Amino acid sequence: LVVRSPEAFREKQGIDARVLQKVSEIDLRQKQVQGEDLKTGKTWKEPFDQLLIATGAASIRPPIPGIDAKGVYELNTLQSGIEVRRAMDEKNPRHIVIIGGGYIGLEMAENFIHRGIGVTIVEKTPQVMNTLDPDMAALLIKPLEEAGVKLYLNESLKAFEITAGEVREVMTDRRILPADLVLLGLGVRPNSALAQMAGIPLGKTGGIRVNDRMKTEVKGVWAAGNCAESFHLVSHRPFYVALGTVANKQGRVAGINIAGGRAVFPGVVGTAMVKVFSLEVARTGLQEKEILELGLPFVTAKIDAYTRARYYPGTGPLTVKILAEKGTGRLLGGQIVGKEGAGKRIDTLAAALHAGLIVEDLINLDLGYSPPFSAVWDPVQIAARQAAGQV
Ligand SMILES: Cc1cc2nc3c(=O)[nH]c(=O)nc-3n(C[C@H](O)[C@H](O)[C@H](O)COP(=O)(O)OP(=O)(O)OC[C@H]3O[C@@H](n4cnc5c(N)ncnc54)[C@H](O)[C@@H]3O)c2cc1C
Repeated sequence: LVVRSPEAFREKQGIDARVLQKVSEIDLRQKQVQGEDLKTGKTWKEPFDQLLIATGAASIRPPIPGIDAKGVYELNTLQSGIEVRRAMDEKNPRHIVIIGGGYIGLEMAENFIHRGIGVTIVEKTPQVMNTLDPDMAALLIKPLEEAGVKLYLNESLKAFEITAGEVREVMTDRRILPADLVLLGLGVRPNSALAQMAGIPLGKTGGIRVNDRMKTEVKGVWAAGNCAESFHLVSHRPFYVALGTVANKQGRVAGINIAGGRAVFPGVVGTAMVKVFSLEVARTGLQEKEILELGLPFVTAKIDAYTRARYYPGTGPLTVKILAEKGTGRLLGGQIVGKEGAGKRIDTLAAALHAGLIVEDLINLDLGYSPPFSAVWDPVQIAARQAAGQV
């Protein structure tokens, strides 16, 4: 716990936060959970009237030879971050291989490069950041390579070469890479096994199925955060997202309802942002492949603009892509990559998606303007104008 210590929970808020205690079973019939003290090994049982499951997400770890060797790390808990940091300080690695070009892989690449370490990213798909359309993800390649990251796309991890119990090399289907340290960034899945074992229904995404009050299908049992499924407000389908933004909101709603109040969490639109070296990268809504899967007719508008008024010092490039439903003009999604302001602007699109706006509405939004922040027409509205001309 970083923000609040267990003592602060106990003393200031009356919450009995017990750490190093692992729940091994949920007994729905007896209405109790069974667990183990990880320090003493002693087991215990605790009854409940209401139960909230908030077990988070688990890293994806493929059964690849050598994956459990020393020097192979992942980054999913505070402790795993501490261990990577310790390895950096103690082993002084020269070559780091990152498996996976998602946002954690890219953020870590930046941090390793800042420490003067050679970084190679191996990614099995043809692009980094699979939550972006390929043309938008392509904008990240040059800054990554200019920063010194070696990028091998379309390449799969096959095995690790281990000497004296420690990783030395990474073998892909195309080459062998030297590695003093390996970081796995292969994504996460809902940590919902405990709930499933107890007979609490999961959704298609593997997350615990909940309604808009965060209640599971079992009376008195609730779930929130990265172990739970969400509802996508644009596709109107169940959706899984492992982000702190969503987890916090779901936790608030579950807490209010458990305490006897009434709150709803209607769903998500898939908003996320990340800084990749000199670029801000942000996305919301559906991407092209998701729209194609849904079989919706759509139009695309992509524009290159400036982050500030064109003449204002410090301005830089910004690319905005908007996807809208053909016929209705309903906004379906957007992606923004640029020097600055991508994060601010994606939130405009996220709000528009929540409100179910059409691109014509987006053009008329009363967004702010001053030369240090934008052109008179914000790039998001320029893209919306282009989309409106096609729908
Ligand atoms: C490196 C990194 C960077 C991130 N950056 C961002 C970001 O920029 N923006 C963003 O929105 N999100 C980000 N996230 C995601 C964010 O951290 C998570 O979405 C959020 O922490 C999920 O909250 P949660 O409460 O659902 O789960 P967690 O915070 O994972 O908490 C779950 C807890 O349950 C405990 N637990 C699990 N099983 C048991 C059991 N059987 N018994 C007892 N306890 C158990 C776990 O130990 C853990 O403490 C990042 C995540 C990582 C790893």
